[in-house]
Parts: sequence; structure tokens; C-alpha cells
Amino acid sequence: MYAQGRTKPGKIVTEVKYPRSMHCWGLAFDIAVLLNGLVTWDTKFYDQIGPLAAAIGLEWGGSWKSFVDKPHYQLPGYDVDDLIKKYGAPEKFMKSWEGINVPGFEGPAKVIFKGKELSAGLLEGRTYVEIRALAEAMGLKISYDNATKTVTLS
Ligand SMILES: [Zn+2]
Repeated sequence: MYAQGRTKPGKIVTEVKYPRSMHCWGLAFDIAVLLNGLVTWDTKFYDQIGPLAAAIGLEWGGSWKSFVDKPHYQLPGYDVDDLIKKYGAPEKFMKSWEGINVPGFEGPAKVIFKGKELSAGLLEGRTYVEIRALAEAMGLKISYDNATKTVTLS
């Protein structure tokens, strides 16, 4: 990715070389906004989503001062120099995750609705499925009111 826009064609998309990106360590992800089925890079959509990151404990690249990165999200509290010093390589860091369990989580599950597979998980004997995916599979319109934490299917 570092070569893109430098020694390879394209636009510069990163300021850091391996393994200095939090992506290398499994601590970051990027999103793309789909508008009518097509990816849009219109920043107004990313500006609407980004501020929600803090509410779920994530750091948003759009709030950075030097390299503003609106599609980027990462877990806060990690320093890449500390990670390199402690683990050397991302693979060793990721090995340290083994054995970490979410209490009550029994693993992934499958929910099939009219032949369409939806991802789901089992938590304390109950099956949880992403309601947006289920609503879309059922052909329902879904809306969410963040102020009241209300999902409405119609
Ligand atoms: Zn990123």
C-alpha cells in the first residue's frame, strides 16, 4: 500500500510502511460507504458516520490533525513503537489473542432465511443476527433513531 502513489500507480493512501500501520496489527479497519450499491468517497457521508466511533470505543481517522483519514477506524490505546518493541512482528501480537474469550459467547452461527445465509452468533444460548441484514433479506425498510436507540422495521 505504501508503494501506491510513490513507485506504483494510484493515489497515496498511507503515510506509513509495514509494520507501522495499525492495519498490520489487526487493530484497524477502513470502511467504504455504499450509495445505491456503489462506493462513494463523498466526505459528507464519512463525516456523518465518523463521530459515532467514539460511542463504541473506537478512534476515527477523520479526527486526526496531520493525516486526516475519514474511512479509517482503530482501537485506541495502542502505540506502534510499543507493539514493535514488545512483539517484534504483527503475527506474534495476533498469536497473543488466542484464548481470549467473550464471556457467554459460544461461537458463530448461521441463520438461513429463504435460502439466504445471514451471519449470526450464539451468546448465552440465544442466536443473534444482524437486524439490518435480516430486514433486507425480508424486504423490509429499516431505520434507526440514535437518540432513542430505536430500530424501526416497516
Ligand atoms: Zn485505515
